[in-house]
Amino acid sequence: MNQPVPIQIPLVTLRLHQKLSLAFVAIGFLMLGVALSPISEQYPIGMFLLSSGLITIGALAYIMPMWYDRKPGIKHDRIFFNSFVNRGVWGWIAAVFFTGFYVVLYWFPERLEYLIRTTDWLSGILRNKPADQWFLYGFYYTLAVMIMGLRMMAKNRHSRYQLIRTVSVIFFQLGFAFLLPGLLQKFNQPEFYFSYFWPLKYNYLFPNDINWLVSQPGGLGTFMVFWGAVMSFIATPILTYFFGKRWYCSWVCGCGGLAETLGDPYRHLSDKSLRSWKIERYSVYGVLAFVVITTAVVWINSLSNGLMLGSVSASFSNVYGFVIGALFSGVIGVGFYPLMGSRVWCRFGCPMAAYLGILQKYFSRFRITTNGGQCISCGNCSTYCEMGIDVRSYAQRGQNIVRASCVGCGICSAVCPRGVLNLENGPIHSRQ
Ligand code: SF4
Ligand code: SF4
Repeated sequence: MNQPVPIQIPLVTLRLHQKLSLAFVAIGFLMLGVALSPISEQYPIGMFLLSSGLITIGALAYIMPMWYDRKPGIKHDRIFFNSFVNRGVWGWIAAVFFTGFYVVLYWFPERLEYLIRTTDWLSGILRNKPADQWFLYGFYYTLAVMIMGLRMMAKNRHSRYQLIRTVSVIFFQLGFAFLLPGLLQKFNQPEFYFSYFWPLKYNYLFPNDINWLVSQPGGLGTFMVFWGAVMSFIATPILTYFFGKRWYCSWVCGCGGLAETLGDPYRHLSDKSLRSWKIERYSVYGVLAFVVITTAVVWINSLSNGLMLGSVSASFSNVYGFVIGALFSGVIGVGFYPLMGSRVWCRFGCPMAAYLGILQKYFSRFRITTNGGQCISCGNCSTYCEMGIDVRSYAQRGQNIVRASCVGCGICSAVCPRGVLNLENGPIHSRQ
């Protein structure tokens, strides 16, 4: 009888500088826990430096040497034996940590009060007012995109596309989603995110928000309404026609930016099954329908001065905000990175991804071309597709990939050892 062959799990040995770096990160996270206590009120800047400062220094000390002492590209070095990135104990701990953070942020922000005080000094410089839970969130979100973005760039430095794309998501997160909204408040202007549009930022086309923006002195509020409408209904279709949905999902969007940086170690956990593809279509287009109906209902209510659909409109808006805006996009969308991969929200819940996906499928010059004769069926491309697309099955048939869900991250192309896959734009009729 054949004896089972024992699996040899390759050992990983950390070098001294790596151990020291990780020790800094661990101490930083411990201090983050301490910063939740009243001690932060006495030493806010000290606690900030001991928590965020140590995490940043440790993470950078770990990541920066990757630029010269590790070969670029994805290597399967223990990735499926690593508890952190393969749903092991540490992966579950990470999921509980992320999920718990979002639950506290949305529903128990008072528990973060002392930690929020550690960022008062920065909020004062940027916005002229004390920090709140959303400033704290924006700060850590941006820090995560920047640090893990550097890791992403070090890892994929052989690919010009990956380098430029990662710089782009860092730029839009730091500039358009953190610094600019803060500075607008400093100069007594409405807080506005120029890189988010309806239907993702659904309230930007709600009558209450529009009326409030238009009523602001100086005319900037009116420009914001104009910007939001033009980006949603004119610029988005045009840009998607030329470049596919990648111009937004992989280059601009903050949710995509976090997925591509903080979520990168988990990208291989996306489910590639046909069942998952089916659920994805029902789910993401269901959310798009929900936001369209919600927007229509609040407008009907507003135009009829509350005579039609009065309380119904408020219910729609509240349910959408709670279930989709908070629970799905935050708690599940990021909290489940270590369990379901990095694009859970983009794949199953984002209405903007659904809208862009329809445009990409039927009205875009974007496609991934495949040179099937060169494919050795290694499966790298499917493994690391964060959107759960079985890229290999297209490559084996030499068939172009035109999928609504593809965010054009280009990782399939970057990990292909045979140069089979190319992200291209060209006439629509030549796609299939
Ligand atoms: S098919 Fe390729 S480019 Fe598209 S989402 Fe998957 S890995 Fe990214
Ligand atoms: S990574 Fe390249 S060679 Fe490997 S299965 Fe995909 S297309 Fe084929």
